[in-house]
Amino acid sequence: MSETQNNYLNQTLPPNEEWVLEIEDQAIKDNVPIMDRVGINFVMQLVRISKPTCILEVGTAIGYSALRMLQANPKTSIVTIERDEKRYQQALDNIKHQKKESNIDVIFGDALEELQHLEKGKFNLIFIDAAKGQYKHFFDLCLPLLSENGIIVTDNVLFRGFVANPESAPKRYRKMVDKLRDYNEYLMKHEDFHTTIIPIGDGVAVSYKKAKGRYHT
Ligand code: SAM
Repeated sequence: MSETQNNYLNQTLPPNEEWVLEIEDQAIKDNVPIMDRVGINFVMQLVRISKPTCILEVGTAIGYSALRMLQANPKTSIVTIERDEKRYQQALDNIKHQKKESNIDVIFGDALEELQHLEKGKFNLIFIDAAKGQYKHFFDLCLPLLSENGIIVTDNVLFRGFVANPESAPKRYRKMVDKLRDYNEYLMKHEDFHTTIIPIGDGVAVSYKKAKGRYHT
């Protein structure tokens, strides 16, 4: 989406609660990359519609998206993984401040390891928002954890517009952009999923697991 369109959509959003603004300010102050407002608004809508009982998030940062997803469906329980100790502690503080410790379980560790120890088939929605070069690994490790008809949502798949136009990417991003292009192709061709890539925010892929059996829906 063009920057003008994204700015326009941003302006159409209703004003956020004070606690949301405070965490957004904290992210700016500490230079923590959290999901942009238009993108999180879309993910929240997916959560409202799909009403997941259990959400898994790869990449907590300071707990912003976990708290916003919970806001969209207050009955859900969320497991989220973060490997940076300072951000993990900030996430715990923010979640405690909102009294949501019983809904959000933050795991401190590397998702590439931690994902191997979670309950199979438990999660109805999985949100991947961590190291972009590792997306395919995260996705593959998440597969056994996803419930039937579950959804995997991946952020940043169009990374700053460079994925659609790799020649325009600064040299330092070229490898990552190539990996994102490979990942998008992998998602689009994956026979167990229907995937749509939506050019909202930084680009969000929504992958819906096909039902098993005779009729693929
Ligand atoms: N989802 C968060 C939000 O919107 O509020 C933002 C997440 S931020 C874009 C990505 C986070 O993933 C960073 O805090 C980073 O430390 C974490 N991360 C990256 N690779 C990881 C890994 N392999 N395991 C766990 N966390 C990881």
